[in-house]
Amino acid sequence: MNWDLLLTDANIATMVAEGPAYGAIQDAALAIADGNIAWLGAAQDLPEANIAETRSLQGRWITPALIDCHTHLVFAGNRAQEFEQRLKGASYEEIARAGGGIMSTVNATRDASTGTLLSQTQARLQTLRAEGCATVEIKSGYGLNLESELRLLEVVRELERNAGISISSTFLGAHAIPTEFKNDSDGYIDLVCNEMMPAVVERELADAVDAYCETIAFSTAQIARVFESARACGLPVKLHADQLSDGGGAALAAEFSALSADHLEYTTDSGTDALAQAGTVAVLLPGAFLTLGETQVPPIEQLRDKRVPIAIATDCNPGTSPVCSLRTTMSLATSLFKLTPEECLAGATRNAATALGLEADRGTLETGKRADLAIWDIDHPQVLSYWIGTNELSELFVAGQPL
Ligand SMILES: [Zn+2]
Repeated sequence: MNWDLLLTDANIATMVAEGPAYGAIQDAALAIADGNIAWLGAAQDLPEANIAETRSLQGRWITPALIDCHTHLVFAGNRAQEFEQRLKGASYEEIARAGGGIMSTVNATRDASTGTLLSQTQARLQTLRAEGCATVEIKSGYGLNLESELRLLEVVRELERNAGISISSTFLGAHAIPTEFKNDSDGYIDLVCNEMMPAVVERELADAVDAYCETIAFSTAQIARVFESARACGLPVKLHADQLSDGGGAALAAEFSALSADHLEYTTDSGTDALAQAGTVAVLLPGAFLTLGETQVPPIEQLRDKRVPIAIATDCNPGTSPVCSLRTTMSLATSLFKLTPEECLAGATRNAATALGLEADRGTLETGKRADLAIWDIDHPQVLSYWIGTNELSELFVAGQPL
């Protein structure tokens, strides 16, 4: 055996589903070869190997690198002014009349130069990376016309080439009804299915297709059309489902074998049954729950009982979740949703990988998987969901390379 690097004097949280809590291995070592995990286990079981370099981690913990599986990172401007207006008592309607709301972000994004979009998104990515994220999903959805949606996805692909971490690109043309189609949402869905989707696929700009199923956005019938188009193009789907009302979103996502159904505050029994049967991941977004002052908590107990994998993500966006920290999101998931610290870490690693269809090569620490590692100055991984605002990341490896 030839190993490029052996990390010794470590504690490892493999985060595999079966076995001890956190998949913990104390006094452990981990070997990397060709960017993958070549071996890991208790130090006393270390086999003979040719080792190019050995490093002691002095008791630090290794976990899978974090994965933020739901973000809207690519946008221009912000909505801080509207945020302040709202806190001063302005109603949603007054804000919308003054040009606020999602269309203000769409307009700012359409008007921004590609360079501005690249640099602003890069800065947000860097913030996530600095706290241990090695894979980040980014959705389009603030273009809402052919040209702008393609440009946002091209920005995402450009970032993927240069960010040093992995990026998963999601086409979210069906995010909101643009002003141009205010009274013709079916006409907009025609555009998404007949023009945007083929162009996105032809340019290989997306790894998945997402949509927003809600009374203020698109109906289940409209989403089904988007998902049929995605299926015809061979792209997997995900869905913003049941965030503000029970619209049957989870069941619809399950019907199309979605990778994930996200939000789920109002998902009912039949919805969680459908997710369990389809193997669809439930992605919970406590940042949006907090920002919107929601009180209806997602059906955590049902998800647990039915063994639906639970992931958590920042949902980083300028309107409803101005949260650019997965570590903070983990902490919010404990306080707002009563997830355990182990569930939070699984939600930001193993189950987040599954929500992106990437579970074959990341999300847990196992031989043969990509060596995406976060190394932490902590005495136990429960600490990662405990503190808010600290950063115990010592080092981040992507595909075996320290960043
Ligand atoms: Zn979202």
